[in-house]
Amino acid sequence: MNIHEFQARELFAEFGVATQPGKVAYTPEEAESVALGLSAGKLVIKAQIHAGGRGKGTFKSGFKGGVHLCNTPSEAKDLAFKMLGQILVTHQTGPEGKEVGKIFVGEAVDIARELYFAILIDRATSVPVVIASTQGGVDIETVAEKSPEKILRIPVNPFLGLQPYQTRVIASSLGLTGPLMNQASSLFSNLYRLFIGRDCSMVEVNPLVVTTDGRLLALDAKFNFDDNALYRQPSIVAMRDVTEEDQREVEASKYGLNYIGLEGNIACLVNGAGLAMATMDIIQHAGGSPANFLDVGGGATREQVASAFRIILADKSVKGILVNIFGGIMDCDVIAHGIVEAAKETGLSIPLVVRLEGNNVEAGKRTLAESGLKLEGAENILDAARRIVAAVNVNA
Ligand code: ADP
Ligand code: MG
Repeated sequence: MNIHEFQARELFAEFGVATQPGKVAYTPEEAESVALGLSAGKLVIKAQIHAGGRGKGTFKSGFKGGVHLCNTPSEAKDLAFKMLGQILVTHQTGPEGKEVGKIFVGEAVDIARELYFAILIDRATSVPVVIASTQGGVDIETVAEKSPEKILRIPVNPFLGLQPYQTRVIASSLGLTGPLMNQASSLFSNLYRLFIGRDCSMVEVNPLVVTTDGRLLALDAKFNFDDNALYRQPSIVAMRDVTEEDQREVEASKYGLNYIGLEGNIACLVNGAGLAMATMDIIQHAGGSPANFLDVGGGATREQVASAFRIILADKSVKGILVNIFGGIMDCDVIAHGIVEAAKETGLSIPLVVRLEGNNVEAGKRTLAESGLKLEGAENILDAARRIVAAVNVNA
């Protein structure tokens, strides 16, 4: 799960991570009144969307930049007017962009240096790792690719936590000395406490800035939370903004389905994440393109299968469906009943190829055959993929 930058700042405040004052606004008038309440002369106005790269983004209206500096509350109001309700496209949103429904109005600071600081879970070692660089503000992927020596990686022992000596090593390699080292040590250890305390899988501060008057501040924040830990993080769940999420995924999560929306036109319904990935690969191999990743799980119920089908069919770009089930724990007949129920209810009108194998497969095939549904059976996965790709191409 992700949150907005203004929400990230609420977490910063709670954990004592230094950042600049400001507030969220939903209308140009509100932006002006937030600005009036701030004491600094210069202001920063930032589009709030669940994607980075806003500074270099462009609105579909032609207006450039999702992050702007200005000097007066009335300018803040004008900028808010140009951003709110508009679609912002950044290198992270994809070409369709994201609609800006709220903006952050904060105090601008005079920046001396822009640094990069992140904590994430390293998949290879399964421990938190701190990533830091003197090359903040710009695209960290480019730094990682062109000058990897400029990126510091410090693994953290999860039982000991981020140790004071480690915060000093990181600070000194970022060139933070004297009073800045003390600020850095407390900022890093507070951020680490936040990372662990709120079950984050990533927190990225880019840029972490040194101001010309010698303060160290987190100016931007991107969080990812471990979805499996959300049950014990009610305050994080309360920050969820479903308007920022893929609606197909929001719907799927209501039924406990693992669904990821993709760009292709062949939907797949599979049990097991490994088989789902293999199915996507094989669709591609057969010359098609998957519309989604969907793992209904090892023990899906008839209702879950029916909901999965409804979600797939609600997607207008879907031109064909491939069901690939290997009944291990799963009873093939349960799947078959779910398919029949949902197909009848939705008036299925696109090609459907079903490959069933395993537990109670004969009953499952009989249920499908007797349902009167127009569908094709398949011998194996490759055969199934070829059939659905052919059917979709004929209809195209
Ligand atoms: P994004 O990463 O989505 O582009 P950022 O919050 O990192 O958005 O802002 C982009 C750039 O805008 C920063 O690298 C920084 O140079 C500038 N900026 C952001 N906030 C402030 C601020 N409060 N004062 C001055 N400059 C800022
Ligand atoms: Mg940034």
